[in-house]
Amino acid sequence: METNVTLERAVELACASPLARDTERASLSDAAGRVLATDLASKVDDPRFDNSAMDGWAVRADDCAIPGACLRIIGTSQAGASPPPMVGKGEACRIMTGAPVPEGADAIVMIEDSDTDDASVTINGPARPGFIRKRGENLRKGEASLVSGAQLTPAALSLAATMGHDELEIVVRPNIAVISVGDELVPPGQPLRDGAIYESNTYGIASLVEQMGGRAQRFETVQDDLDGLREALDEAAETCDAILTSGGVSMGQWDFVRRIMEEEGDVHFWRILMRPGGPPLFGLWKGTPIFGMPGNPVSSHVVFTLLVAPWMSRCMGAHEDLGPRIASPVRVVLESPLKGAPGKLCLRRISIRSEGDALLASTHTHQGSGNIHSMVAHNGLSLLPPDADANEGDVIDALWLR
Ligand code: AMP
Ligand code: MG
Repeated sequence: METNVTLERAVELACASPLARDTERASLSDAAGRVLATDLASKVDDPRFDNSAMDGWAVRADDCAIPGACLRIIGTSQAGASPPPMVGKGEACRIMTGAPVPEGADAIVMIEDSDTDDASVTINGPARPGFIRKRGENLRKGEASLVSGAQLTPAALSLAATMGHDELEIVVRPNIAVISVGDELVPPGQPLRDGAIYESNTYGIASLVEQMGGRAQRFETVQDDLDGLREALDEAAETCDAILTSGGVSMGQWDFVRRIMEEEGDVHFWRILMRPGGPPLFGLWKGTPIFGMPGNPVSSHVVFTLLVAPWMSRCMGAHEDLGPRIASPVRVVLESPLKGAPGKLCLRRISIRSEGDALLASTHTHQGSGNIHSMVAHNGLSLLPPDADANEGDVIDALWLR
């Protein structure tokens, strides 16, 4: 077991225990947000045929060299209709956006640049070859413009449809248990006895799991008790692919997740050199990967974002751009000083906004790791290196979360 590891090392150690990756077939309409499991070759050229980018006239550019040229109208090309007649010398074909360009024509005149009567059209503006969208200029038949690991964003779904695919092979969503541990925790909506607080982490963490493309299974809160915890972990290992716990991983007498993992599990690392989010552990419970995350709400969200999210992304074979990456920070100018942490990467909550040429960052709330409001009121995290305080005006690395 390693202790007090850097965040990079923690991600590396977790990624050494990935999940088996299964794939399934899904219709295009059920694939939103999922991860593509194969390269996807186009079944067609895109565009399928030369077509017009404008409503106007398909012409021979040579015929329009002199302003005021008068051309004979030979017909109309409409989107979805059969091919139009050939355009000969001195002729023009009325054409709609997306309609096939008739043979013989090599340029389009915009409708706004013409005057017409029944039989002829007078050309008052340029005939532009650039208004013809050429067959295959976006994509060639057989070309794979979506590759394995791509996230099926709205644009990616439309691209898959453009390429002619109605079904896709996608990565099965990992089933992830989300368990909170603590005697003080009461579900929201229930009466609070003395000393109790509302359990909040499982709601946020389950939602983060879903956002990352997993399927979250929220468990009932487990008390600070070894037997109850063992039972819950056993059930989670049986029914889920991975386990996320929150609470009970610090040094205290009641930190039973750490204790049970040390005594009965297989711990790969404990504690990360970062603040907030220092106490996590990672290991295997009966062969199932388990992340023991801290109970403080900000800490558990930050640990998910920086440790669990990249691990999930790797497990699903997703491109590196799924979820935030400390390897791809933005540079921000601080509008107020930020206190760093001795020996630890410091992740203060910051608001990032663009102004002029720069991204500016400010803070608005108390920064305590118990204050989940700080994650709502801000949209980024500082990446202050260990032992570094930063002053107003300093430029630092940061993660822009939304
Ligand atoms: P722990 O990591 O168990 O020492 O908990 C640290 C702090 O986080 C304590 O103040 C707990 O009450 C709080 N906490 C632990 N788990 C949760 C949870 N699921 N929801 C909200 N607060 C929690
Ligand atoms: Mg606790």
